[in-house]
Amino acid sequence: MSEMYKNYVNGEWIESTSKETISSINPADSDDLIGYFQSSTIDDADKGIDSAYLAKKTWETTSQVERGNYLLKAAKYLEKNSDKFAKSITRECGKAMLESQGEVGRAVALLQYYGIEGSNPVGDVVPSVNPKILLYTKKIPLGVVSLITPWNFPLAIPIWKMAPALVYGNTVVLKPASTTPLIATLIAEMWDDIELPKGVFNLVVGSGGTVGERLINNPKVNAVSFTGSTNTGKDIAVKSAKNGNKFQLEMGGKNPVIVLPDADLNQAAEITISGAMKYSGQKCTATSRVIVVGDIVDKFTELLVQKTKSLSIGPGNDEKSIIVPVIDKSSLDNIENMINKATKDGAKIIHGGNKISGGIFEKGNFIEPTILSNVEYDSFIACEEVFGPVLSIIKAKDYDEAIDIANSVEYGLSASIFTKNLNLSMDFAERIEAGVIKINGETAGLEPQVPFGGLKSSSSGNREQGKAAIEFFTNTKTIYVDRSAT
Ligand code: NDP
Repeated sequence: MSEMYKNYVNGEWIESTSKETISSINPADSDDLIGYFQSSTIDDADKGIDSAYLAKKTWETTSQVERGNYLLKAAKYLEKNSDKFAKSITRECGKAMLESQGEVGRAVALLQYYGIEGSNPVGDVVPSVNPKILLYTKKIPLGVVSLITPWNFPLAIPIWKMAPALVYGNTVVLKPASTTPLIATLIAEMWDDIELPKGVFNLVVGSGGTVGERLINNPKVNAVSFTGSTNTGKDIAVKSAKNGNKFQLEMGGKNPVIVLPDADLNQAAEITISGAMKYSGQKCTATSRVIVVGDIVDKFTELLVQKTKSLSIGPGNDEKSIIVPVIDKSSLDNIENMINKATKDGAKIIHGGNKISGGIFEKGNFIEPTILSNVEYDSFIACEEVFGPVLSIIKAKDYDEAIDIANSVEYGLSASIFTKNLNLSMDFAERIEAGVIKINGETAGLEPQVPFGGLKSSSSGNREQGKAAIEFFTNTKTIYVDRSAT
């Protein structure tokens, strides 16, 4: 009998008023039922928000250093339980163990970073035109912040939102993706174990349409930080603006790699395939277009196919697996449909293209790593996010055309170039429309101490992570102390 997990509100584990549950299933094995979670209602969402609202006075007047210390305690807890977290991530979202361990390591680093941030300044002293005036700014918390997160980084994304939110004095309500509620529950257990004051962190599991909507529209909410699809994000932007709330959106990508003829082609192919295929392309920063310049196309295509053939396919708990299951059946069908549409538009499948069944694959959501050639730069497959192990090869006659192609989509999350030419790589950094730029590196892979976010339809609002996070999670007061008046 699988375990039933509850919401975490005001320091208590509580059931939904709906008395209904949703189940979480291992994407590698449909027989593996991970557990039942609350199918929460608007009422349940309100309880989470009320709890955060009640806790905010005490939390915002708790010293920032002390708030940071809670984060440092959480980092220690996470380190101690890293094996449990990594195994649960692999089981619930299908990720390869090595990558799950990496995700836990990143979450620890984020908690440490923002824990230490607890001792850093949150304002400036600014010279006044009047020497008798002490003029300074102070960052103040927003209040209650809703965190709405996706399934693909079920630990790192919630942590990179809640760690700065908490250290700068906000209280939070987390609504995780319905496909990965276990990891969110483990996060709640972490805060419970380290005795974070009641109501500062709250977890309400349930659907986006019910709980998610309420976390945006409840009048006690002051801000929303969201990561997920572009359509949902745009909807959240409209609703938040209407409510006068701050919002921060991290959304989709269609991340390009440009390969110039002078590049080390073998290395470029290795890194391109790693960016496109690891975690079966389900990273928002995954490489999905490779724009190959000049007459190296045939040679480079051959290298891409060769590298792809060597990728091992299997469940994430097999340490050899690189191509792992995708999150669920509907995602699997969507990827297959997109490949079919691409071929109708004239693309050629030169590797993969099929769902995988039989043997260890029978009960999982597996699809072959797929490479498409003959892709027109403005075709559907070259412009729409796939979120699967699918790489499109697009030809460009020269560097300028490659830049135009790279910039021709609505997204602008991450991008990379492979070349030995320093001037062109610097030119690329100037001209490419992306928030994260790599020179001779993988489009995926981020460090937590620097800002993260995209341009165009990939992001909206302030950047996440690093020092930039303070801009979203605080407001600013400007204080004039006039000593000449006393
Ligand atoms: P979704 O937008 O479907 O879901 C994201 C979150 O929003 C989930 O918690 C979901 O709940 C919730 N949600 C859905 N509908 C609503 C609504 N109407 N109101 C409020 N909340 C809602 O995205 P996916 O989970 O499918 O995630 C994949 C997407 O996320 C990809 O497009 C990817 O590019 C993007 N992403 C972006 C990243 C970035 O940093 N730029 C990082 C990771 C992913 P529920 O699960 O219950 O539907």
